[in-house]
Amino acid sequence: MQMGQPVCDSDMELEQHCRSCGGSTFELLNLGDQPLANNLSLSPGAPVETFPLAVRVCDRCSLAQLSYCVDKEVLYSDYNYVTPESVELTRHYGEVYDFLRENGHIGPESMVLDIGSNIGRLLEFLKPRVKSVLGIDPAQNIVDLAIDRHIPTFCRFFNEASAREIDEAFGKQDAIFARHCFAHNEDPGQILAGIPQVLAPEGVMVIENAYFRDTVEKCEFDQIYHEHMYYYNLRGLGGILQSHGLKLVDAHHSDVHGGTIVFVAKLAASPTEPSGRVRDYLASEAGMHRPEYYERFVSQTWRNRNALRHLVDELHAEGKTIHAYGASAKATTLLNYYGITAAQVPFVVDFTPEKIGKYVPLANIQVISEEEAAKDPPDYYLLTIWNYRDEVIRKVRAAGNTRTRFILPHPDVEIVEA
Ligand SMILES: [Zn+2]
Repeated sequence: MQMGQPVCDSDMELEQHCRSCGGSTFELLNLGDQPLANNLSLSPGAPVETFPLAVRVCDRCSLAQLSYCVDKEVLYSDYNYVTPESVELTRHYGEVYDFLRENGHIGPESMVLDIGSNIGRLLEFLKPRVKSVLGIDPAQNIVDLAIDRHIPTFCRFFNEASAREIDEAFGKQDAIFARHCFAHNEDPGQILAGIPQVLAPEGVMVIENAYFRDTVEKCEFDQIYHEHMYYYNLRGLGGILQSHGLKLVDAHHSDVHGGTIVFVAKLAASPTEPSGRVRDYLASEAGMHRPEYYERFVSQTWRNRNALRHLVDELHAEGKTIHAYGASAKATTLLNYYGITAAQVPFVVDFTPEKIGKYVPLANIQVISEEEAAKDPPDYYLLTIWNYRDEVIRKVRAAGNTRTRFILPHPDVEIVEA
């Protein structure tokens, strides 16, 4: 590896067939060789390893997937994503819980398991509302934090073997959540193979994910990074569920994170029929298995790339200062694919203590704390965590900064007058 240079094994095998149904796929967007989005560098000159990052779509089941999946041991060896404390996220948990309760999927007697539970924020929310909570997460540093927060959590990947262990120790679970982790596994079948081991006969599996239709329609190309190996709609996920003895029975859409969908599945043997909502979403996904559906998304991504680079250069030439806001995985994709570096955007502000002082890989932009940023606020914040837009603006204004303006990267590049 060279210092500060991208390196990539050119012999890597790229998958051309759908990992779910074996159908043929077409290339939707190719972002070239990119670093692992969550592996922040310790110094600006640190070696950065890159891997191919391209999304292909199945022309049969419409499942969108990366052509190359990084080995999970590599991907998660230095995993430092901690679910942030967020009013909007807590509100979202409430919304999902209400939907599940109102439709009879969860109740006070439910035993709940959360796969990829991180530090246990969802379980903390559910704890007073259900009978029991239990988390499982593969990252030991994250599990330690969960246990400190009094959320019982296993340090394992969820699969058939760990599911059996959970069943033996705690019994069948009435609701199994898999929030934003279902895209993070090359073989979602490994997770699904464990479900029948530990799901109660009339229990529900609740899978939450960015809704791929939103990603496309709102031009959120920065949802694409190596951890997101799959991009789900109902049709694509339904196919995977079916091949693992499960079926979709309900779905709920929410605007959080730029468009999120909650899929509710049951064991195939359950008498529950799919709700009208499932039929409506499936109908709205017509055409997602065809290249034409994505033409606008691809051209808009290019337009936004040019527009944002132009805006940043123009502001820079006027002597304006720009910082990014949010050293998220999305930021790594956006900054690197758009070719924005520390020369134009010297700092990215973040509230996660573990990220402060590190650098966005390749772009080499240093992460600073909100307190540090407040000492000398820039003229503009590029909102790389656009999914927390209102919360960030509120926070910056509440801290007495009335001067900094905000740049939104999509659906259209615009300066927000807030
Ligand atoms: Zn397929």
